[in-house]
Amino acid sequence: MAETKIPRATAKRLPIYYRYLNILLDADKKRVSSTELSEAVKVDSATIRRDFSYFGALGKRGYGYDVETLLAFFKKILNQDTLTNVALIGVGNLGHALLNFNFHKNSNVRISAAFDVNEAIANTVQSGVPVYPMTELKKQLIEQQIEIAILTVPTTVVQKITDELVDANVKGIMNFTPLRISVPETVRVQNVDLTNELQTLIYFIEHYGQQLGDNGQDEPDEDDD
Ligand code: ATP
Repeated sequence: MAETKIPRATAKRLPIYYRYLNILLDADKKRVSSTELSEAVKVDSATIRRDFSYFGALGKRGYGYDVETLLAFFKKILNQDTLTNVALIGVGNLGHALLNFNFHKNSNVRISAAFDVNEAIANTVQSGVPVYPMTELKKQLIEQQIEIAILTVPTTVVQKITDELVDANVKGIMNFTPLRISVPETVRVQNVDLTNELQTLIYFIEHYGQQLGDNGQDEPDEDDD
């Protein structure tokens, strides 16, 4: 893990850099300039240089960045050399979609356990992932040392389940419900409200058309530090 405390916006761009660097490595490219990287990942080159500067001087003037060195570096920061097991709670429509979605090929994250209150789906295997009844939540999370959970349950039960996750020592929650959940300071929450994201996109298109700046890019939850 990184020693330096890096800004949240920078941290969110690291997987994007990492993914592209893997593509370069596969294509046998030895080095990359910040301009090249900028065009590929749609982040301006000044931001890329600033992002990289948080980790010390990694680039050489006139040479750019060494792909393998950079990749090894990011791999360590992103914890890609160890596999992170994630739990999914609520195997409904969205939950099923996420179980089917194999995350990215180059990311060492996988959903290894799912949970649902519905007896028809508990104790079955869905898309290669075992689904446990909710009564086994704490036991399984602790036994399997799972510290990250994805919430795709109805809003009515999301806080109650969050409390159970906190009780089972979960450190990070990806909340797909539109409800903001309460957690202790030691737990990090990432909110992904797909409806809200889509509405924001429509709002921008309707009000600003093509004059978006930032390469037309936006990241969800940029403002909720
Ligand atoms: P989605 O919201 O993903 O489209 P859906 O419309 O199919 O899903 P929801 O009612 O939102 O269904 O429930 C999502 C899933 O959460 C269902 O599989 C449901 O059985 C499960 N669920 C509901 N209550 C709980 C609970 N208390 N604990 C765990 N899982 C629950």
